[in-house]
Amino acid sequence: MFVESLTAFAIGLLIGSFLNVCIYRIPLKESVFWSRSYCPHCRHTIPFYHNIPLFSYLILRGKCANCKKKISPVYPVVELLSAAATVLIYNHFGVSGAAFFYILLIYSLIVITFIDFQTKLIPNTVLLFLLGSGVIINLLFNVISWTEALLGFIISGSIMYALAVMGKLLFKKESMGMGDVKFSAVAGFFLGWKLTIAALYFGFVFALLFAVFGKLISKSAMERVIPMGPFFSVSFFLFLLWGNHFFEVYVSIING
Ligand SMILES: [Zn+2]
Repeated sequence: MFVESLTAFAIGLLIGSFLNVCIYRIPLKESVFWSRSYCPHCRHTIPFYHNIPLFSYLILRGKCANCKKKISPVYPVVELLSAAATVLIYNHFGVSGAAFFYILLIYSLIVITFIDFQTKLIPNTVLLFLLGSGVIINLLFNVISWTEALLGFIISGSIMYALAVMGKLLFKKESMGMGDVKFSAVAGFFLGWKLTIAALYFGFVFALLFAVFGKLISKSAMERVIPMGPFFSVSFFLFLLWGNHFFEVYVSIING
C-alpha cells in the first residue's frame, strides 16, 4: 500500500506541474502543450533538471536559477495539492473508471480555483473540457447513472442561476458571476444532484464564514467581490470523498 501511495503521490506531483502550466497559461490564451517551461520574469527556458516538481522549488529556495527572482509559492502548493488528491482518490477508488472520473474533476477544481483567485474568471475552455471528458468517461465506465448526473447538472445550474439573479436584484450589482453558474452545473454532473445540493450549501457557508472573518480582519475585505469558485471547489472536494459520511452523521443527529 505504501509503495502504491508513493507512486500515486509522484504521479500527482507530475500532473500538478502540468496544472501549473494550465493555471499560468490559460488566462493568457497561450498553448499548454508544445512549448518549454520558462521563467515568467526573465523568460529564460527552464532546463529539465530545474523543473522537477516540488524538489526544484526547494533546492532553488523558491528563486529562478537565472534571474534569482522569486518563484510564486503557488507552484509547489498546486503540486502538493494535486499529489495529495491523487493519493486520496487512489486509496478511495483504486485504479478504476470512477477514479479517472473523479480525479479529472479534482484536477479541474484545482485549476479553476487558482485561476478564479487570480483573475476572478472561470475559463469556459476548462469547463467544456471537463464536461466533455466526464461524458466520455461515463459512457465508457458507467460511473454515475445518467439521471443522477443530468439532474445534478440541471438542478445545480438552476439554483445558482436563480441565486445570481436574486443577488443582482438585491445588491444592485453582480454578486455572483455566470462563471460560478456554469461551473456548478458541470460539477453537478460529476457529483449527482444529492451531493451537489449539499456541497453548494456548504460552499455558501464557507464563503459566508470567510466574509465574516475577513470583515473582522479588514473592513475593505467585504467591499471586494468574493470569488465563489474556490469555496465551491473545497466543498465539492470534501463531499466527493466524504459526502456519504456527512449524510449519515446528519441523519443520526436528526434522529437523535
Ligand atoms: Zn528568471
